[in-house]
Amino acid sequence: MIKEHTMSKEPQAGRPKEQVVQLYQSGKRIHPKLAKGRFANWRIAAILATQFVFYVLPWFNWSGRQAVLFDIPERHFYIFGLSLGMGDLIYLAGLLIISAFGLFWWTTIAGRLWCGYACPQTVYTEIMLWIDHFVEGDRNKRLKLDKEPWNARKIRIKATKYLLIFVVCAWTGITFAGWFTPIREFVPAVFALSAGGGALFAAAFYGFMTFLFAHIMREQVCKYMCPYARFQSAMFDHDTLVISYDEERGEPRGARKKTASREDTHLGDCINCTMCVQVCPVGIDIRDGLQYECIGCAACIDACDEIMDKMDYPRGLIRYTTESALKHEYSEKDIKKRLLRPRVLGYGAVLFAAVAALLFGIVTRETLHVDIIKDRGVMVRENNQGWLENAYNLRIINASEKEQVLDAKVSGFDEITLTGLPEGGITVPGNETITVPVQVSTIPEYADKGSHPIEFEFSYRYADDNEAPRTLTEKASFIGE
Ligand code: SF4
Ligand code: SF4
Repeated sequence: MIKEHTMSKEPQAGRPKEQVVQLYQSGKRIHPKLAKGRFANWRIAAILATQFVFYVLPWFNWSGRQAVLFDIPERHFYIFGLSLGMGDLIYLAGLLIISAFGLFWWTTIAGRLWCGYACPQTVYTEIMLWIDHFVEGDRNKRLKLDKEPWNARKIRIKATKYLLIFVVCAWTGITFAGWFTPIREFVPAVFALSAGGGALFAAAFYGFMTFLFAHIMREQVCKYMCPYARFQSAMFDHDTLVISYDEERGEPRGARKKTASREDTHLGDCINCTMCVQVCPVGIDIRDGLQYECIGCAACIDACDEIMDKMDYPRGLIRYTTESALKHEYSEKDIKKRLLRPRVLGYGAVLFAAVAALLFGIVTRETLHVDIIKDRGVMVRENNQGWLENAYNLRIINASEKEQVLDAKVSGFDEITLTGLPEGGITVPGNETITVPVQVSTIPEYADKGSHPIEFEFSYRYADDNEAPRTLTEKASFIGE
């Protein structure tokens, strides 16, 4: 068991209280009611947008190949016009760092907006809930069905539901694999039962994990497994946007007739209908204060707004607000002004610098790399001119999609020659690595025993381009007599 700080309703909304939380509890199935309203619509839009990217983008082509492909067997990554080899992994690492800082920055401003609208766990859980709702009906029908003994009707309904879930999970797994292997070849191979190897394993594994996390363990993942839920409180401050119940306005809660005036009942605006609890996908009561299980999905806002409309009360008993606004340190209208606070500006500055560095790195990156590998079989030898000769292998990596032509010269002694290069330079096809053996020679007087520094200078250009060549220098050593 661990102790967690959560926000309590006692004595004021937003104040942390110490609470004992089980590290794990065996899951009680939660059947949330589907919420309807403006935030539910935003979530549907976010799901459609993210899933359009996930399911459709791998099918797009760019310059005759898959537009976005992380081709692990070939150790090459394509992102539209950008072609990255293993030597460019630093850019992918940079992208991950930027994503992490983006999440920190966004969390400081708007709390768990990512969890509520775009996190894959939320998105696939929501899709599974849509299937539940579509096949089994709304919350009450699902609860009733679960309690029913097994009979032909129940078997038929459950079989239909699991068939649909299987199709969604299988297609999700196949699409996931299609980000790492050419999808236009992989999908027909799957249907022809001829796909195999790592791609098929990745598809089966990802599909199964989607089923496990989004259907079987849907509430458990956010509550017990997600590390972000645990450390996000470190990024929160009193001005972070969170979903809160306005206790001052809502309490004392209680049922009343729609026609009853507040003065007569001496009650707050909460009619204790529990709709906010019934729609909650993690099964918590937002009226108990901000809790770490809350994924910020805003379903409770939609549910409560609907009740407020029916009661002719103003909306917003549950709303996006900040802890400071709830304590009347500033008005709700001034929440936007609190955006420009030091923590947000600090994260924003780091994020901006990281994005600028990544873009600069990508724009100025070398499209050709050369490794000079000394031929260990030939330390030094005498050529037919009587000069000392060392042998090298030039490993040339073309990190662009276009053919490039490379020329080279060498310096380090007053008299030094480079042989082995083909006439007109070395042609390196796009996205390929070739190895070319070359020899460097000098007159024996210049190279006495031991190692001498020399330098290769390469100039290279695109084969179909008349622009001035780029240059690249690499250090090497020449072994003397
Ligand atoms: S939905 Fe609103 S009125 Fe109903 S219990 Fe929740 S907070 Fe109270
Ligand atoms: S408390 Fe509200 S915002 Fe939080 S998870 Fe439940 S329904 Fe979503």
